[in-house]
Amino acid sequence: MAVPPAVAAPPRLPTPTPTSRPPRVAVIGAGLAGLSCAKYLSDAGFEATVYESRNVLGGKVAAWKDADGDWYETGLHIFFGAYPNMLQLFKELDIEDRLQWKQHSMIFNMKQTEQELQPGPDGKISTEPKYSRFDFPEWLPAPLNGIVAILRNNDMLTWPEKVRFAIGLLPAIIFGQKYVEECDNLSWTEWLQKQGIPKRVNDEVFLAMSKALNFIGPDDISTTVILTALNRFLQEKNGSKMAFLDGSPTERLCKPMVQHIEQRGGKVHMEKPLKKIELNEDGSVKQLIIRGVGADTADEVVTADAYVSAMPVDIFKLMLPPEWRKYESFAGLEKLVGVPVINLHLWFDCKLTDVDHLLFSRSPLLSVYADMSNTCREYENADRSMLELVLAPADKYIGRSEEEIVEVTMRELERLFPQHIGRLAARPAKLVKYHVVKTARSVYKTTKGLQGSRPTQKTPIGNFFLAGDYTLQMYLASMEGAVLSGKLAATEIVKAVETAMSKGEGAAAAFR
Ligand SMILES: Cc1cc2nc3c(=O)[nH]c(=O)nc-3n(C[C@H](O)[C@H](O)[C@H](O)COP(=O)(O)OP(=O)(O)OC[C@H]3O[C@@H](n4cnc5c(N)ncnc54)[C@H](O)[C@@H]3O)c2cc1C
Repeated sequence: MAVPPAVAAPPRLPTPTPTSRPPRVAVIGAGLAGLSCAKYLSDAGFEATVYESRNVLGGKVAAWKDADGDWYETGLHIFFGAYPNMLQLFKELDIEDRLQWKQHSMIFNMKQTEQELQPGPDGKISTEPKYSRFDFPEWLPAPLNGIVAILRNNDMLTWPEKVRFAIGLLPAIIFGQKYVEECDNLSWTEWLQKQGIPKRVNDEVFLAMSKALNFIGPDDISTTVILTALNRFLQEKNGSKMAFLDGSPTERLCKPMVQHIEQRGGKVHMEKPLKKIELNEDGSVKQLIIRGVGADTADEVVTADAYVSAMPVDIFKLMLPPEWRKYESFAGLEKLVGVPVINLHLWFDCKLTDVDHLLFSRSPLLSVYADMSNTCREYENADRSMLELVLAPADKYIGRSEEEIVEVTMRELERLFPQHIGRLAARPAKLVKYHVVKTARSVYKTTKGLQGSRPTQKTPIGNFFLAGDYTLQMYLASMEGAVLSGKLAATEIVKAVETAMSKGEGAAAAFR
């Protein structure tokens, strides 16, 4: 598959290095950003040690196996053709075959009319779900494949609406990413109004897209987020092509990253939460205090040549030493706040659908969902469905009990699968079991005007760097953004050592 080039990996350090041993870097957090940073540092000849607070790898892609051997995950995760750094990583780890690419389409649930949901003469509802597809022809280059996909779909948008929308998009196409970044001062709804695009376009398409991208609605989301996604999807032939991982992200993606790091002399320590960042008099990092987990375990002191926070922004803010608050690049952090989201897994006693793809529910309660028994090799089941569904926006539900959340979701499924779910369903499906994973603070909420608050990977502190999807990179809050941020942090660290070496100085000078 043709994919645009990834950002170059940092070069390997020349030998001998400025210290008699490889420079040591302590990375805090074993999500995708932390693991990516440690991976690229290991490749560059550093000794990278990762400290993760939990007993599971992956952060927001973490997954667990239940007593029956079934996996459940923090989130339903989709990989896109427009993820060059992630795809490059799969290649470097030699695990490309683990990505299960789907047909190049976007599939939306169609809303059923009241009449369609009426019971038949037998008193039962046997209405099948209706889908509307945007199919991207393989034989056309971008952006023609996207334009044809949009023009061929007549279920969701009328011709005048399509034309109005295409005209509205022209500035983004002509002026590119610069225009996209400038639009951060508008919410998506405000931008649509400004471009004179009918509100129905928002209700029909962008409510679903906005919820899928950041778990919030179009009145809240920054225009930069939607235009960045549209730009990638329209400008790259396979940009919107989707893949599912063939199993749990913890096992199938994070573990190979850990193996890669450890084979190159690094380490990944689990259940080692950062308690405090201690400073030297000049404000640089002196050491990390890692909290002892368990009754008889003492706190640990960790020292290294350089330090990377790859923790989520909400936790990093709590760990930020008060002495650093004066720096402008940390000041904006207060505005970055994780958004709540809930990921549900529902196992049924029969098959609900044979769709082997992601589905946009277009439901007020839910965002995207998939029948993982069709989409994912390790969860495959020819006779029973396992729906993985994202509930968003989740502010109203995050504090509710799992039973309540499942109940409202099942009520919503009566509309999505009327023939299987509900009192009058003609072919009733039984819910066998469920898992609900709540993330009270997930990715940062990408409301308007926040681009300037995102910190760069290089910080004003010479021996301290940042990685994480919230740090400044063009892929926003996503797996691609996390992997890229880790690579960019590693690149800054390598650059600092190279600069010191070019002046004949040691590692201590590199991180001053
Ligand atoms: C429901 C859901 C669905 C999603 N769907 C998609 C999708 O389809 N496509 C996509 O690209 N992205 C998706 N995302 C977003 C994606 O998962 C994240 O952008 C990405 O995984 C973030 O990685 P990260 O490394 O920046 O942060 P995190 O994954 O949050 O990693 C931070 C790590 O730091 C650890 N940590 C925290 N505190 C400490 C401490 N004190 N000491 C040590 N370690 C600590 C955490 O335990 C965690 O492991 C989704 C997210 C969710 C929640």
